[in-house]
Amino acid sequence: MKPKWLKKRDLFVQTQRKLTFTYAWLIIVFLMLFSMIVSIFFLGMAYREQRQLLHSSLYATENGDVIIPDLSNSRGDDLYFFYILDDEGKVIADSTAIRQNRDDNLDMIERWHPRRDGFRLKWLPESDDHHDGDRYRDKDRLLFVGARPYVMEDGRKAVIYAARDVTFYAEAFQNLLLVLLFILVLFVIAAVWLSYSMSKKAMIPIQQTYRQQQQFLADASHELRTPLSILNTSLDVIELENGEDLTRYSREVVSDMKEEVGRMSRMVQHLLTLARSDSGSVEFEMASFDLVPRVRQWVQAVEAVAQKKQITLTTSLPEKLAVTADVERIKQLVYILLDNAIKYTPEKGTVDVTLGSHPKQWYLSIRDTGIGIPEESKQRIFDRFYRAEEHRSREEGSAGLGLSIAKWIVEVHRGSIEVESTLGDGSTFIVKFPQA
Ligand code: ADP
Repeated sequence: MKPKWLKKRDLFVQTQRKLTFTYAWLIIVFLMLFSMIVSIFFLGMAYREQRQLLHSSLYATENGDVIIPDLSNSRGDDLYFFYILDDEGKVIADSTAIRQNRDDNLDMIERWHPRRDGFRLKWLPESDDHHDGDRYRDKDRLLFVGARPYVMEDGRKAVIYAARDVTFYAEAFQNLLLVLLFILVLFVIAAVWLSYSMSKKAMIPIQQTYRQQQQFLADASHELRTPLSILNTSLDVIELENGEDLTRYSREVVSDMKEEVGRMSRMVQHLLTLARSDSGSVEFEMASFDLVPRVRQWVQAVEAVAQKKQITLTTSLPEKLAVTADVERIKQLVYILLDNAIKYTPEKGTVDVTLGSHPKQWYLSIRDTGIGIPEESKQRIFDRFYRAEEHRSREEGSAGLGLSIAKWIVEVHRGSIEVESTLGDGSTFIVKFPQA
């Protein structure tokens, strides 16, 4: 069984997602900038053009007199309205393209008395008027109104107002925004797809190198296992056949060698497990079994090592505990925790193994009276190659891989692992698993 989460949490999938997100985000930002520039350019051009046209209407003169355009027959294409009001607001001259909107036009400009030339954008709301028995309807209009104060021949002050209907530009701008939005959505979809495939391509060589390295590690550790087990057997044979003839010194050398070979075998085994777990090639064989006799058996197996350090091994086990798990992996987990407990407990200490269950989960705790773990290391001891006390751990011949494997096994079983520890007093490792 290959757990799904293993695939999901794959390093490459995560990196690829990050890359996709970054690429897509860059393209979106770029497109948004592009849309903004296009919009500003469009608006700027329209504004300049309309302002220039208004300006020429406001300043059109003939023999020194202001030209009042005749808009009665126009449809507002050129000018929408033209008024001259004196400073009391009285209409001196007027011309409008759509007569029935005259009052609205005047409302719009009456309160605007500029001292200098000015330009404003104004909405003329939809109107629905009755004039001479006819009904007139006019849509919302956007007017660009210009005003120019001037002094009339008789010395009175007046203001010329002229407006152009720029509704077309507003509508065109709206359409432009819609088109840009559509393009943006289209491009975002394309960008996500493109970035996804681009990042996938970018990952291929990295993935290959990583896989090759993994394969190399797996192969190397696998190859190392055979000579190590031959060495171990040879040492056993030497002990068995020549045990009596060996000098005390040689016996010690053989015993030390056996210990070292054992340590190396464990390390190689750990490396192999990690390499396989990384490549996702580990198959978990889940089965239901009674954990109690197994734990008893595993504890017995380390009894000899514990005795060497005069460590008391105690167990507190229930009658029976049916679990569903990969028995080989659970065995590996228990050995790692027991191995550490004995390794990091000074002579004459104790190690307790407890097994128990709650309605929804079962747990295993291994408590020792060892050296304890410094507070700052508690989070990191589950990292690969991390050793809390470099010097001491190295002396013990450890590589800092055991707990990372323990954590991996626990996670695959959807459980949790935690540690409680007081420096100098001892540590308790508790693993909890959900009941199947
Ligand atoms: P190692 O091979 O070094 O034991 P582990 O991954 O099993 O690697 O453990 C990481 C580190 O955590 C160890 O080097 C040790 O410093 C600390 N540690 C683990 N178990 C215990 C324990 N029972 N008591 C004290 N320290 C421990």
